[in-house]
Amino acid sequence: MSPKSFQDLINDVHDKGICQECGGCVSFCSSADFHIIDFKDKYSPPVYVKKDECLECGICYYICPQTHVSDYDINKTFTFSDYDSMPIGPYYEIYSCQATDSEFLKNGSDGGVVNSIINFLIEKKEIDGAIVAKTEAPFLREATFVNKKEDLMKYSGALLDISPQLTEIQKFSTYTHTIPELKRYTDNKLAVVGTPCQIYTMRCMQELGVTPSQNIEVCLGLFCFENFLFDKHQIKKFENDFNIQLENIKKINVKEDLILTLKDNNRIKIPFNHLTDYMRPACNACNNFTNIYADISFGGLGSPDKYTTVILRTKKGKDIISEAISTGVIKKLNLDPENKDKLIDLITRYSRLKIQRYEKFSSQIMEAH
Ligand SMILES: Cc1cc2nc3c(=O)[nH]c(=O)nc-3n(C[C@H](O)[C@H](O)[C@H](O)COP(=O)(O)OP(=O)(O)OC[C@H]3O[C@@H](n4cnc5c(N)ncnc54)[C@H](O)[C@@H]3O)c2cc1C
Ligand code: SF4
Ligand code: SF4
Ligand code: SF4
Repeated sequence: MSPKSFQDLINDVHDKGICQECGGCVSFCSSADFHIIDFKDKYSPPVYVKKDECLECGICYYICPQTHVSDYDINKTFTFSDYDSMPIGPYYEIYSCQATDSEFLKNGSDGGVVNSIINFLIEKKEIDGAIVAKTEAPFLREATFVNKKEDLMKYSGALLDISPQLTEIQKFSTYTHTIPELKRYTDNKLAVVGTPCQIYTMRCMQELGVTPSQNIEVCLGLFCFENFLFDKHQIKKFENDFNIQLENIKKINVKEDLILTLKDNNRIKIPFNHLTDYMRPACNACNNFTNIYADISFGGLGSPDKYTTVILRTKKGKDIISEAISTGVIKKLNLDPENKDKLIDLITRYSRLKIQRYEKFSSQIMEAH
């Protein structure tokens, strides 16, 4: 393969409109103390800040989820070879789980399982902390480090309490730059919570053994069908389209639809196909719904209210969940075989839908370039 640089990422990824803004390239380049690229605008792809000093090491290119350079090696590591026959990826078990701690349950997006697991690992001293995302407003999250239960509670934030100054914020996104945040905590053993594109980037870094992936103990992956990007104009349109005020949203859940719980406790369900105007365009170039490379994947889809669907993928992930269940940190729903099949079918259906969307988009991109 010819030597690569960030310019190749611009040509092969940014110019095609498929940069997922995961932050992997920036994270590596600054952790390695090169500082050649950065995010100028938080919600746009990274750019050169010192182009003439670029070492053309190519690492930013190799770890980018959109170049797919590491697919073969990572699929070998994760014993995963065929999207069509097994679109939800390799796994040991699939459960519906719930936090036993009432506060985690109350504040959780679904069953409060992710934060319960993070807290469990911190208390056991298996990790020093985790990179999570705090909720600032509906569709706005910021990556942050937590190492205490109180902070986990504070930031778990599916429940929203919008302060007035947030109307000043120009752009809203459910997206957060989890990976660049990593480089600030390289002396810690960390858990990382991320969307499939972020966890995939992390795995590429681990496969290549590049910084700052060395301190990641466990990858906790969220399901993700798509992500949203709102500027002021889009917010107005969203409010008009669905006849709601953003400030009246109390909670957001993602299952078969996007579910908004309002402050008056009314619930509005918006099907994904009504949200295409708000979707981040680069999400079309993503085929991974259930976070196939995580140690454990978590989603709302397929589980009853206040439960989280949990997929145990790696040996490490399996051990963590088994211990969390046996010590009573979380509990699992007893699903009979019929309901278990329904759960798996539903996740498989959404995984296939995402793969189909990706394939359609990819062929359009191929035609255009
Ligand atoms: C952008 C996005 C899209 C999603 N799409 C789907 C979907 O299509 N279908 C589906 O079934 N589930 C989806 N989920 C997952 C679902 O909403 C819940 O996060 C999941 O079920 C875990 O619930 P919980 O109550 O166990 O987690 P909790 O215990 O509430 O913990 C959630 C943890 O995730 C962290 N977090 C939240 N957002 C981010 C983020 N963007 N980056 C990094 N960390 C974050 C929080 O800080 C918290 O630590 C999505 C989540 C996100 C963030
Ligand atoms: S120094 Fe290496 S990682 Fe940084 S921008 Fe250049 S090629 Fe990419
Ligand atoms: S590594 Fe992530 S942020 Fe960098 S170009 Fe690729 S998708 Fe974009
Ligand atoms: S759909 Fe989700 S995982 Fe895929 S690029 Fe968008 S945010 Fe990332």
